[in-house]
Amino acid sequence: MRSSKPQPRELQARLRTAYPDARCALDHRDPFQLVVATILSAQCTDARVNLTTPALFARFPDAASLAEARQEDVEALIKSTGFFRNKAKNLIGLGQALMARHGGQVPSAPAALGALPGVGQKTANVVLANAFGVPALAVDTHIFRVARRLGLSKATTPEKVEADLCRLFPREDWIELHHQLIFHGRRICDARRPDCAACPLLDLCPTGLGQMKDPHLGVRLALASPQASVPRPRAAAPATQVPTDDAPQRIVSLVPSVTELLVQWGLAARLAGRTRYCIEPKWIRNTVPAVGGTKNPDLDRIRDLAPDLVILERDENPKEVADALTALGLPWLALEIRTVKDCVAALRELGIRLGVPEAGEARATALEASLKGRRRKGPRALVLIWKEPWMSAGPDTYLGDLLRQGGFTPIGPDRYPVLSETDLEVLAPEVILLPTEPYRFNRRHQAELQRRFPHAAVHLMDGQALTWYLSRTEAGLDLVRGFR
Ligand code: SF4
Repeated sequence: MRSSKPQPRELQARLRTAYPDARCALDHRDPFQLVVATILSAQCTDARVNLTTPALFARFPDAASLAEARQEDVEALIKSTGFFRNKAKNLIGLGQALMARHGGQVPSAPAALGALPGVGQKTANVVLANAFGVPALAVDTHIFRVARRLGLSKATTPEKVEADLCRLFPREDWIELHHQLIFHGRRICDARRPDCAACPLLDLCPTGLGQMKDPHLGVRLALASPQASVPRPRAAAPATQVPTDDAPQRIVSLVPSVTELLVQWGLAARLAGRTRYCIEPKWIRNTVPAVGGTKNPDLDRIRDLAPDLVILERDENPKEVADALTALGLPWLALEIRTVKDCVAALRELGIRLGVPEAGEARATALEASLKGRRRKGPRALVLIWKEPWMSAGPDTYLGDLLRQGGFTPIGPDRYPVLSETDLEVLAPEVILLPTEPYRFNRRHQAELQRRFPHAAVHLMDGQALTWYLSRTEAGLDLVRGFR
């Protein structure tokens, strides 16, 4: 095992060998096309931008034509990249600013570039580096994650990570390194499932070697254990390694839908504790002690219950809870449910881990079968989960995927963003869904939104069916499929 100290030269050599083709992934022929494509890439994949720009550049090939474009014409061409109204406004403003201040050309001075509509510091760095060869190291989500996992920076903001990287690597290598780290983040060092076993940097990576927790996921990576130099947290062992007769008998569930699932599997007698939101079936409120909420469970109470397994879910329970359980020496199992398919895997894992593999397999197989077949790409649907401020469940959430399975196209930023009133307008949903929980949306809210969005279909829906994964995934699928 190598030292966990950053070894910039060795890293660079490996990255060069691994990614000789690393380059800007946005298709462009000149600085104007690059700045437009970079503006479009906000909240959108590069692949989607590359599908969009040929038609856009055919119609508006330069700053002069874009400066005179009509908002609705640009919107129609870039609609699929998301936030299209705002982006169209910025693009037209960009064309006008280039004509008014720079003779229609994209300036290469950082200050002038950064002053253009829609061009922030990160966009300016990308354009400077790729269009003009000016050394710059724009830190995007991939570089931020990879740099911290590799121990190149402990900073918690992209700006500070950028400063750390610029200190570590020679200026003349910044552009190349920028692309290599992005390629590495996309191809190997995935946000949720880094492929450490296949990683050419493994022996240089303190996260992959288990010398520190993954700064992105907050846990030690599974591959790390054999080579780890520090003890792993006492997370529950992987399900496949747990013999049935060792199955836990005193389970604390911090996930309402998992609590219900355990009862459905006939394991209520093994429930030693639950959160106050674990309220189904109703009778468990009188028989299983509560241990606080999902975000802030009473850890002393949990310890006193002496569980042999605490079940968590990564969105439902903060990672600090898992850390605290580890510090208390309590074994835990953290599920991660972001898609309906994740439920299939979690049902199998829970079945094996809890000593009821047949129950898990039967449910998983049935669910898997119900996911087969082509899905339609239906109306753009926005699911609101909170009011004041508005919050939505984005495409990269269980709810988003449930909608997808039901033939809707979930929209909005990923995860659970707070949305301004303007964001709601910009998203222009064709369907607005209001689950009755976690926020108690009711008919009054439905009527208000319907007045505000007369062209959208606004629906109030059973919140438990929509949001209680595992125990009610089938009901959720029926609901969204039947609904269309
Ligand atoms: S070893 Fe794992 S965590 Fe480290 S860079 Fe490679 S994939 Fe990422």
